[in-house]
Amino acid sequence: MELKNLPSVDEVLKDARIQSMEKVCARNLVVQAVRDELEVLRAEILNTGNRWTREEARERVVAEAVRRLQSLRQGSLKKVINATGVVLHTNLGRAPLSPETAEHIASLAQGYCNLEMDLEEGKRGSRYRHLESIILNLTGAEAALVVNNNAAAVLLVLNTLAKDREVIVSRGQLVEIGGSFRIPEIMALSGAKLVEVGTTNKTYISDFERAVSSDTALLLAVHTSNYRIVGFTHEVPLTELVSLGRRLDLPVVQDLGSGCLVDLSPWGLEAEPTVQECIKEGVDLVTFSGDKLLGGPQAGIIVGRKRLIDAMKQNHLLRALRVDKLTIAGLEAALGGYIAGEPQNKVPVLRMLTRNPADLETMAGRLCHAIKEELQGWDGQLEVKVIELNDKVGGGAYPLQELPGYGIEIALGFDPEQLVHRLRTLEPALLPRIKEGAIIISVRTLQAEEMDLVPGLLRRALEALQ
Ligand SMILES: *Cc1c(COP(=O)(O)O)cnc(C)c1O
Repeated sequence: MELKNLPSVDEVLKDARIQSMEKVCARNLVVQAVRDELEVLRAEILNTGNRWTREEARERVVAEAVRRLQSLRQGSLKKVINATGVVLHTNLGRAPLSPETAEHIASLAQGYCNLEMDLEEGKRGSRYRHLESIILNLTGAEAALVVNNNAAAVLLVLNTLAKDREVIVSRGQLVEIGGSFRIPEIMALSGAKLVEVGTTNKTYISDFERAVSSDTALLLAVHTSNYRIVGFTHEVPLTELVSLGRRLDLPVVQDLGSGCLVDLSPWGLEAEPTVQECIKEGVDLVTFSGDKLLGGPQAGIIVGRKRLIDAMKQNHLLRALRVDKLTIAGLEAALGGYIAGEPQNKVPVLRMLTRNPADLETMAGRLCHAIKEELQGWDGQLEVKVIELNDKVGGGAYPLQELPGYGIEIALGFDPEQLVHRLRTLEPALLPRIKEGAIIISVRTLQAEEMDLVPGLLRRALEALQ
């Protein structure tokens, strides 16, 4: 029986490497890790019948238990350098925050704050009052409410205004956003009944008019933020939906998704409706994300008529969707970048989107030079050069927009798969674009201090392959 060479828990616990783990991990977790790894080895021996000497078995259990504990200590969220050129990458945490925003969050995180206290009166206050005046000033709305994310915002609006009643939406706008946000499903969760009108490519205001009944609670417009229907199409203009809503006394709600506060067309992006424009056109409620084009932390923002926002504040569902002090701090500071003026220079997401191609070319030239210096040992095997490329907005915004940018192409002469895996598992991880036989580093999404790290990371990954 090969199991006789398995060490005892106590024997493993005496090992110096395990003892040093006890200095940085709770003892019960160290004991558990050793037990678990002994169990793994026991199962393996029974399954495979392989022979292990006592020495080998102890080494293996020690090494695996230490690895298990190290990974527990390090946690799993790691810094990633985004070299994909996709500015709002949902898998990479969407909007990076400005240093001012990060500092504001950090300064409030370590102590108490007036989250729900009116310091003037010394009485209980509401957490929702903090962001209200900033948002009202920036959007021109009568009232605002911030919840956990935009999916929560849509859910709260529908549940408050349309539970057990009907909501009319164009068939061309029944969107799915990555990560399982689907309008029909959110609608079902909220208790509202979806009434689809029109066809995939064409919907007219008369379709809405015909669908209205005594059960209708509201008219919903959803911004088709991550796709476009092109060709033989017709969408109902917001102004027509607003006048129909007025005439029939039905609220008009727009789920704007990205919710930009700045017209980015001077920087060559397509014109998209801003939150302010929707409010000005008379939309009763607009919902949008805090961490897409706005450039803040994850949040969902609802702006519009005070009467409707007040109804949502009375809904008990809000308790489950509420934001914490860190989100409020982050959003307050991110919106500060708009209050200060010229947000395109202060909000990182907007800065990346509006970067001048000539500056990107200069950045790429510098980085290319630094990479060539660092990778001298691979001369003749790698070809490193500056290229023009197209970047993306991402985050389900501006689906067709291509942002002219620059990057560094490193032609490898071998399949990039393994190198890319190495780059992903470094710290910080580096995520490039992949092309046949090459990797590409887009410079648009690199922060200044990250630029300096890229050459060294590339060298470490290449060395690890040898
Ligand atoms: C992104 C998006 C959502 C979901 O927003 P989250 O903040 O990710 O919850 C909903 N609707 C539209 C139109 C979107 O673009």
